[in-house]
Amino acid sequence: MKNTPLKLRGRLAPSPTGALHLGNIRTFMITCLLARSRGGELVMRIEDLDHPKNKPGAVVGMIDDLRWLGFDWDEGYGSGGNDEEYIQSRRIELYAEALEKLKAQNLIYPCTCSRKDVEAGLSAPHSDECLLYSGTCRTKYLDFASAQAVLPDGRIPAWRFKVPEGESISFIDSFCGKYSQIPSDVSGDFVLARHEFGAGYMLAVVVDDALMGINQIVRGDDLLSATPRQILIYRALGLELPEYIHLPLVVGPDGRRLAKRHGDTRVSFFREAGVSPEKIIGALAASCGWAEENEELSLSDLLLRFDMSLLPHEPFVWHDDPFAS
Ligand code: GLU
Ligand code: ZN
Repeated sequence: MKNTPLKLRGRLAPSPTGALHLGNIRTFMITCLLARSRGGELVMRIEDLDHPKNKPGAVVGMIDDLRWLGFDWDEGYGSGGNDEEYIQSRRIELYAEALEKLKAQNLIYPCTCSRKDVEAGLSAPHSDECLLYSGTCRTKYLDFASAQAVLPDGRIPAWRFKVPEGESISFIDSFCGKYSQIPSDVSGDFVLARHEFGAGYMLAVVVDDALMGINQIVRGDDLLSATPRQILIYRALGLELPEYIHLPLVVGPDGRRLAKRHGDTRVSFFREAGVSPEKIIGALAASCGWAEENEELSLSDLLLRFDMSLLPHEPFVWHDDPFAS
């Protein structure tokens, strides 16, 4: 019997923390082309677990911008099915089940340290991207309740994942090549949830990608260094690893990732200024080596020219508004 090859399943996983800007769109465009060029499917998932940063109305705005630009997806939020199933804040029970499985293997423990405690435990200053945790609470508490008992009202312990000491985790990224990291030197035991039955990004992203059958993960290379931690979760839950493709970010002329200080690069801004979707897609395609400067293209036009070997490995530097006439 012949093996049926697995259908490629990618995803778009925006966080509703504001309006989509050109950096998001460039990554989504490539995600889409990678899936479509191989007859794959795309799932839309809303990653809204970072509550304080969520902006009301952001989801509607993001979906509207993506549709306007010509994006489509086969499953998930906004595809006519049950939207709730694709919103992380509505999936807490699934993350709680995963926490149970990890607890049963003695791979997680409650931690009562505040951010200040963690910082104080550092022997050397660390990049602010991820605080190295020294494992203070690893063997301190019998269970969540006894950890909770030592905290003042209103504070809740976090669940941390036990990272294997000194073990190097490697994977082959289809765009960046081999990447290795010793998580115990970079993050130490990291936070999975800040609630007894909750979940943070690290856990939710793994559980969701696995349950949604995602086998190709395309995202910005700002998440490259988080991937070894996610691989540890995949391994602990006995899940099959996806293919990873981490893409260079869009940065401003100062070399820092695209942000407000670089001017307004939100899709909605260009849209209101009368710039067409084809101009935006064309400009981003040019940055990938798939179009001439100022060409106007739709996403489907791009399917014919899409070629990952032309994509620069350096960040794309966004200069002034090229759409201004
Ligand atoms: N929701 C994340 C973001 O918007 C992406 C997470 C991921 O792709 O793993 O940055
Ligand atoms: Zn602790």
